[in-house]
Amino acid sequence: MKIDQVSDSVYVVAGTNVNWALVSDDRGVTVVDAGYPADTASVLSSVAQIGHELGDVAAVVVTHAHLDHIGAIPALVEKLGVPVYTGAEEVRHAKREYLQQITPAQMVRLLGSRRGAVWVAQTLRAVAGHIGMSVPMAEAADAETLAALPGGLVAVPTPGHTNGHTAYFMPSEGVLFSGDALVTGHPIVCGTGVQLLPGVFNHDEDGTLASARGLATLGAEVLVPGHGLPIRKDLPTLLDAFARS
Ligand SMILES: [Zn+2]
Repeated sequence: MKIDQVSDSVYVVAGTNVNWALVSDDRGVTVVDAGYPADTASVLSSVAQIGHELGDVAAVVVTHAHLDHIGAIPALVEKLGVPVYTGAEEVRHAKREYLQQITPAQMVRLLGSRRGAVWVAQTLRAVAGHIGMSVPMAEAADAETLAALPGGLVAVPTPGHTNGHTAYFMPSEGVLFSGDALVTGHPIVCGTGVQLLPGVFNHDEDGTLASARGLATLGAEVLVPGHGLPIRKDLPTLLDAFARS
């Protein structure tokens, strides 16, 4: 686990090949995404490491209901009873009314490359015992509710990676939590910088690209992706170049 403060209020935590973020202000802490099931202890201890008590957590806000973004939610809800918010369509995915994620056959195909094989092994360890988990308590947040949470967030529907994928923007500090709509790296690819996840992870590739391009219009200064390093320098230029590519 590595914690990186990227603005006055926002801390990005790198867990097992995935990031979550903590948004801290005098109202408490909003947890944005929640790592793999195997990251649960790290998610809980990251709150203490930025100087808060667990009881300061006001809510968990989820970009999408893949296992690498929801892992610590059962523990957070059980210990704290906090609400879990995501986009209205993603609520259905979180409840597993349907499932849009990489298939076992696609994972087997990834074993053909060294990077893929390492990632598959790490992923299977990180989800062990929790492959069938869902988030039955997920609920849709309206704009007022999100704005009142620590940090004050705005939902940005970004369908593609999943139909209900939702990014979040924090206007006061210009921070964009892009989840898996736009990332800056992934263990199965070698390139870094603003990019889409490999197509095997995206339910709708055209939608993913259109949503990612749309993120350039928000005026974000800091990018907190679901995978890869945060970007704090020249973000408007980088997003603009990506949107035109
Ligand atoms: Zn992810």
